Amino acid sequence: MATNGESGQNQTHRHQEVGHKSLLQSDALYQYILETSVYPREPESMKELREVTAKHPWNIMTTSADEGQFLNMLLKLINAKNTMEIGVYTGYSLLATALALPDDGKILAMDINRENYELGLPIIEKAGLAHKIDFREGPALPVLDQMIEDGKFHGTYDFIFVDADKDNYLNYHKRLIDLVKVGGVIGYDNTLWNGSVVAPPDAPLRKYVRYYRDFVLELNKALAADPRIEICMLPVGDGITLCRRVS
Ligand code: SAM
Ligand code: CA
Repeated sequence: MATNGESGQNQTHRHQEVGHKSLLQSDALYQYILETSVYPREPESMKELREVTAKHPWNIMTTSADEGQFLNMLLKLINAKNTMEIGVYTGYSLLATALALPDDGKILAMDINRENYELGLPIIEKAGLAHKIDFREGPALPVLDQMIEDGKFHGTYDFIFVDADKDNYLNYHKRLIDLVKVGGVIGYDNTLWNGSVVAPPDAPLRKYVRYYRDFVLELNKALAADPRIEICMLPVGDGITLCRRVS
């Protein structure tokens, strides 16, 4: 069940997991996934970072543990080596990525907030993964523009995870489609936006959910109509749309 903004029938049994944004209709089923598939196999560093993040006031932003497991598996399946992440927060999806890459793998990680990244950094360092990460503090868009202008980065990324300002996703897409390889994957996160993408116009939505909803709806439409990619929208976490560049 979504954490907010939804007219769910069973709000009293709302799930308590930090970062829980599962759209499953049964909390028991979500708990089953966590206890059967995710927690027994969760690397120690991921568990530690999840627990540190749980104490942070903005913990609702974190990637959920099941989505972390999904990203880690996906990156291994596609043999990703050169990757990018827009929106790091304390680094849970970043760590899931770093763990999946080979030792010479790379992640260009961008966030306007370094302080939150530094909460997770000691755990990433302890796991011996920091050398894979090139963290840039600041807005992502100018960095992407610079890379495109440079000309050296066209078609060089195996995987790009976008989990930042939803009102910029289409601006990111315009640039990322150039930077990802043909055959590479861009993952746009939160594309079901708390389930609000199907909420009626008069539904009682939280202010930020309502504000970003139109951007998410517009993105989803644009991705579905974009002939340069194949897409697959998955109800993992708060919805993730995988886009495979085909031309
Ligand atoms: N992927 C993260 C994780 O696994 O915990 C969660 C990211 S959180 C949902 C969104 C992040 O996007 C925030 O840390 C925020 O500071 C960052 N952000 C917002 N606007 C941004 C921008 N223009 N460029 C880069 N990062 C931005
Ligand atoms: Ca997210």
